[in-house]
Amino acid sequence: MSKREFQTEVSQLLQLIIHSLYSHPEIFLRELISNSSDALDKLRHLTLTDEAFKALPFDPRIGLELDEENKTLTLSDTGIGMSEDDLVSNLGTIARSGTKNFLSQLSGDAKKDSNLIGQFGVGFYSVFMVADRVEVISRKAGEEQAWRWTSDGKTGFDLEPADRLVAGTTVIIHFNEEGSQYANSWRLQEIVKKYSNHIAFPIFMTYDKSEWNADEKKSIKTRTTEQVNAASALWRRSKSELTEDDYKELYKSITGDSEDPLFWFHTKAEGSLEYTTLFYIPSKAPLDLYQAEYKVGVKLYVKRVFIMDDAKELLPPYLRFVRGIIDSEDLPLNVSREILQQNRVLTSIKTASVKKILSELKNIAANDPDKYLKFSTEYNRPLKEGVYSDFANRETLLDLIRFKSTKAEGFTSFAEVKSRMKEDQKSIYYITGGAESLLRTSPLLEIYKKKDLEVLILDDDIDEIIFGGIDKYGDVELKAVSKASTSDDLKDEAEPDKAEALKPLLDKLKATLGDRVKDVRASVRLADSPSCIVSDEDEPSMQMQQMLRAMGQTDFPAPKPTLEINPDHEIVKKLLARPNDALAEDAAWLLFDQALLMEGVPLKDPASFVQRLNRVLTQSI
Ligand code: ADP
Repeated sequence: MSKREFQTEVSQLLQLIIHSLYSHPEIFLRELISNSSDALDKLRHLTLTDEAFKALPFDPRIGLELDEENKTLTLSDTGIGMSEDDLVSNLGTIARSGTKNFLSQLSGDAKKDSNLIGQFGVGFYSVFMVADRVEVISRKAGEEQAWRWTSDGKTGFDLEPADRLVAGTTVIIHFNEEGSQYANSWRLQEIVKKYSNHIAFPIFMTYDKSEWNADEKKSIKTRTTEQVNAASALWRRSKSELTEDDYKELYKSITGDSEDPLFWFHTKAEGSLEYTTLFYIPSKAPLDLYQAEYKVGVKLYVKRVFIMDDAKELLPPYLRFVRGIIDSEDLPLNVSREILQQNRVLTSIKTASVKKILSELKNIAANDPDKYLKFSTEYNRPLKEGVYSDFANRETLLDLIRFKSTKAEGFTSFAEVKSRMKEDQKSIYYITGGAESLLRTSPLLEIYKKKDLEVLILDDDIDEIIFGGIDKYGDVELKAVSKASTSDDLKDEAEPDKAEALKPLLDKLKATLGDRVKDVRASVRLADSPSCIVSDEDEPSMQMQQMLRAMGQTDFPAPKPTLEINPDHEIVKKLLARPNDALAEDAAWLLFDQALLMEGVPLKDPASFVQRLNRVLTQSI
């Protein structure tokens, strides 16, 4: 037997792992299984590519054998194995470049270091968090001699010749006090399922299974071997190998949803970054879609090993309804949350994933409108949030969102609205601020109806905020019908002499309404109603002001609306003819109040409104 000392860096690293990573000792199993899986991958590659290894048997399996009494766990694989030299260099030194550099950055402050260490795969050495002695018996594929490596993880290791029937590696873990919690078959199965369920190779566990024996009326322990993982990283297979049912089954197993997904996008990226993504759109929006503390639906894997399922940085918040998997080849197994936030690899994957999801949605919208309608019904609103928050993809998102409109049944798109524009139409119009029924009957729409211009009905509470920030769709301007300035499409209606004739009445109305209005003027947008209110281009609308106040924001000066009067309306004509009528003042207020009511703005003084209405009724009946 030969005694060897660990390279100084190994001792340092061991100290760190044991002291800094102690909060998650269970990861030792993930790391060892991942090593076995890599070793199996390597042997498979050799048997496929190297003449000398072609004849070797490849019977891939990973075994876990639990001895609860002696508190040992034996993990074995039929992978590539290690020679004597391999054992010395792999499990006695740190070969990886950058390691020394990494170690020199460590400060000895456990908290800081555990963040740093996340950038760095801890690998095999993590087993010393749970073990006071570890034996590794390994035989390299193509060699006859096996070797036993033994260590207490403190100063060094022993190396001696050993026997092993076939090539592969066996790791015998003698649990320490802290680790003895893992000498438990339930616990081990749970950890395997959590981290290694989709490792491509089967993991078998041998343990004493307790089963109730009806004849003897007691539970009997039987030594049992069972496969404990699903062993199918389905997403790693090529699309052509997978059936619709495979995809649906995987969806259900990762989400717990009993319904089939609406659709999915499966992508394998090769090149400077290697990763696989499989994204699903659930057929029903998740219940927590509008809660700040929504549950993340995308799981992060590194080389088929589960890493985490609660990383909000995997996709932007507006895509929080997406479910699925991101599996990267380029991230370290031990990547931490802090690191994810500024990780270049992940940022690239995220950017590409968002583009991919949006472009696939665009395809579906173009090729399967029925399916896309189902999608829009559930997810239109989060996509609108994207219009607001994802500047880089705004154009695409504008094409993906859907609207109600005065000219289409159900949902319509910007592209469709644009295609319906009249030859000389300058802008696309929309109305916001209230329920659909209120918007559809707004006096502001009258002129558009008369001129046969389409208006989008934007009845989501976030619409005004979102569309207020968008000036154009492509090269066409977007305009809110509630804004004071009228667009070119309406201007030809304005008849200057009519406005001139109206002036005495306008002055009178202004004098009566005083500081409740900014201005009173002749309208070009009304057909059937006598009056309406509009707000300035750069001011929040009346409804928006209401919303802001309801949310406790009162520190902005209340912008006043402009009252517009329909010169062709009977009431207006009569008022103009009889400026000194006893009811003129009541009429002024009634014109203003009814315009507010039609916009869904509650009256400041409903009692006065009713008194005026009653006075007018008394006169006219
Ligand atoms: P990493 O896996 O991140 O490289 P580890 O410390 O876990 O780091 O392992 C160091 C090296 O030891 C591996 O790169 C591999 O070459 C070798 N090794 C570990 N476990 C096995 C195994 N079960 N079979 C073959 N080689 C192994």
